Amino acid sequence: MSPAQSETASHTPVVTRIAPSPTGDMHIGTARTALFSWLYARGRGGKFLLRIEDTDRARSTPEATQGILDGMAWLGLDYDGEAVSQFERAERHAEVAREMLAMGKAYKCFATQEEIAAFREEARAKKESTLFRSPWRDVPESDHPDAPYVIRVKAPREGVTVVKDKVQGDVTFKNDQLDDMILLRSDGTPTYMLAVVVDDHDMGVTHVIRGDDHLANAARQMTIYDAMGWPLPVYAHIPLIFGPDGKKMSKRHGAVGVKEYQAIGYPASGMRNYLARLGWSHGDDEFFTDEQAMEWFDLDGINKAPARFDTKKLENICGQHIAILPDAEILSEIDGYLAASGAQALSAEQKQRLSEALSCLKGSAKTYPQLIEKARFALVSRPVDMDEKAQKQVNSVSNGILEELTPHLQNASWNRNALEEAIGRVMETMELGFGKIAGPLRSALAGRAVTPSVLDMMLVLGREETLARINDFREFVSENMTSE
Ligand code: GLU
Repeated sequence: MSPAQSETASHTPVVTRIAPSPTGDMHIGTARTALFSWLYARGRGGKFLLRIEDTDRARSTPEATQGILDGMAWLGLDYDGEAVSQFERAERHAEVAREMLAMGKAYKCFATQEEIAAFREEARAKKESTLFRSPWRDVPESDHPDAPYVIRVKAPREGVTVVKDKVQGDVTFKNDQLDDMILLRSDGTPTYMLAVVVDDHDMGVTHVIRGDDHLANAARQMTIYDAMGWPLPVYAHIPLIFGPDGKKMSKRHGAVGVKEYQAIGYPASGMRNYLARLGWSHGDDEFFTDEQAMEWFDLDGINKAPARFDTKKLENICGQHIAILPDAEILSEIDGYLAASGAQALSAEQKQRLSEALSCLKGSAKTYPQLIEKARFALVSRPVDMDEKAQKQVNSVSNGILEELTPHLQNASWNRNALEEAIGRVMETMELGFGKIAGPLRSALAGRAVTPSVLDMMLVLGREETLARINDFREFVSENMTSE
C-alpha cells in the first residue's frame, strides 16, 4: 500500500461526483452510479458534483451532454454548483504534467510511433511483455533532441500497488504490469488518466464511486496521486448491471438509455428506488423513499456480484411509488413522459379532469401510460368513442338496463352509497347481477370494456356528464341496434 492511501479523514465533508463522458445516450448504469454517489453525499450532508468528461473531442457531442443534463434533471439527481467541463480545464491538466516533470516524477519521451511499434513487435517475437519501456525515462535534459515529445509518468516498476476498494476489497496490481502512461500528448493535450486525477483532486472529491471497469485505472491513477503527494480518494468500484441472462446490459435486453425509461413512463422516484436496490441492499427492504435511501445507503451494502436488471421488479416498485406520489407531481411527471415519448401534451381541461380522476386511479397503474389508459374515461369528450369490445354492448338489453337506471341516477344523491343503492335497485327489479349492469355502463361512460370501477367513474364524471353519456349511448343503440 502506498503511504498516501489511508482512509480519507472521516471528518472531512464527503464530496462525490459523477463523471460521464458525453459520447452517447446516458446509460442506465451511469444513472445508477450517479444515484449511488448522490445518495452517499446527500445522506452525509456532503456535496455531489457533476463533471462532463468531454476531453475526447472526436467522440463528445453537445447532444450527449444535454442528454446527461436532462437525465439528471428527470431523475431528480441535483448536483452542487455548475457542471464542470473537463475539456475547459485542459490548461490546468497540462500545468500538473509540467509540475510532475519538474519534480522528476514524469519525463519527456521522444519515441516515435514507429519506434513504439518496432519495440512491441520485437517483444512479441521474443515472447516478452509488450508493455512499452521508453528509453527516455532516465535521459537527462541536456541530451534531449529538439523534437516533439509526450510527457509520461515515471510509474513504479517494482513491488505492488494495492487498490483498497470499499466494494472489491484489497486488489493487488503488480507494478511491473504498469506502463509509464502518457500524461500529455505531443500536441499538448492531456490524456483522460491525467485529467480525471487532477479534476477529482481540484474538485475536492473524497469518494470515487464508479463502475468496476475502472478498477485497473485506479491503480494507474494512484501513481499520479502519489507523485503529486495528493491524498487518495476512497474508492468504491461497483459491479456493472447485467441483463436477466447474466450478460452485460445492452440494447439486446431492451431499454438502456435513461431517456428511454422516461419515455416508457416510469416515475422518477420509482426509478431511484429500483436503481438503488440494483446492486445495493438494506436488509429485505424493496420499497423505500428517498429519505430512507439517504439514511440507509452505505458502501458496505453494495454487492460484489453484478446485479441483474429485472423489469417486473422495476414495475412493481414504480406502481407503489405512483400510489403515494402527490397529485401535482404525477401531473408534472406525466407532462415529461408525454414529451419524452413524443405524444401530444394534455390540454388544461384534460389535466383538470385527470387530476379529478387520480384519487381513484393512483393505486392501479405501474407506469404513466397505464395510468392514462385508466383515466381515459375522464379525458375523452362526448360522444365517447367505443372500441370493438365496448360495442358488443350495443343492443336492446343494454338499452333496457340503462333506461331503467336513468331515473334512479337523476334522483340519487351523488355519492358512493347512493349510487350503489341506485344500481342495487335496478339489479333487484331486473333480477340481474352487478356485472350485467356494469357492462353497458362501462361502454357508455368509457367506451371500453375494461375500465376503473363504474362507481368511481360516475363519481369523477358527475351527474350531468354521466347522464349525458348514458343518453348518447342509448341514442347510438337505437340508431345502430344490431342484435338482441
Ligand atoms: N468518464 C468515465 C466514464 O464515463 C468515468 C470516469 C470516472 O468515473 O472516473 O466511464
